Amino acid sequence: MKNRSIALITGANRGLGFEVARQLAERDFIVYLSARSREAGEAAVENLQKNGADVRFVELDVADFSSPQKAAQAVAAQVDHLDVLVNNAAILEGENLPALRVTAEVMQKTLAVNAIGPLLVAQAFVPLLSQSAHGRIINVSSSAGTLHDMGTYAPAYSISKAALNAVTRQLSAALQNKRIAVNSVCPGWVRTDMGGCNAPRAMEKGAETIVWLATEAPQDLTGQFLRDRKVIAW
Ligand code: NDP
Repeated sequence: MKNRSIALITGANRGLGFEVARQLAERDFIVYLSARSREAGEAAVENLQKNGADVRFVELDVADFSSPQKAAQAVAAQVDHLDVLVNNAAILEGENLPALRVTAEVMQKTLAVNAIGPLLVAQAFVPLLSQSAHGRIINVSSSAGTLHDMGTYAPAYSISKAALNAVTRQLSAALQNKRIAVNSVCPGWVRTDMGGCNAPRAMEKGAETIVWLATEAPQDLTGQFLRDRKVIAW
């Protein structure tokens, strides 16, 4: 099993996560497609298996803080290592609630899914990632989370993505001795349920840098924020 690369993607039943799963399976990865809904996840897996891909479902609700450990146990029962973890799942809620009116509930939920969840998923999968010669964690972030030019757009979401970028820095430093690279990536504005139909990018393009980070990017590239394969400012 060691010579076959293995990836796990959160929130991969639709949107960019599904597209990343598709592209990695096409590159002969064993793909753990995770989703919070078993029904939606298994349907997505079936869809990709039609082309002969080795794609397996694992239930993972990143808002349920006990879920990552259960998912990691399920995966560890089947394989002895993990090469790539893509923290993709996210929500965009309260987009039009300005910072002065955003509710505690929206803040809590958004931070749980977009920042705390990815940290706990990483913690749960580090033992398996440590068994890879070239472990990689990819946090799907957004330019909405950049601090240098942050304005009034979607406060809960933007604050959560800034927090996710901090998760990237912390994990990158903490995992340097295990040779696990950790980076944030902005996929650009992409036509998905979240991005809407006016977004300029197709899903294939949005997934490109995520897949590059999962495969060809230099292993010593870590602790960075990327877009279109280039390092960008936080
Ligand atoms: P979508 O809304 O299309 O898909 C989001 C995915 O996340 C779904 O599979 C959804 O599952 C899943 N999800 C939500 N909550 C949870 C949870 N608690 N546990 C597990 N999965 C969950 O979004 P995109 O595909 O557009 O976004 C993917 C990533 O890209 C996100 O991190 C997003 O912030 C980022 N991004 C997207 C941009 C865009 O223009 N589209 C721009 C910048 C960044 P379910 O079907 O169950 O709801």
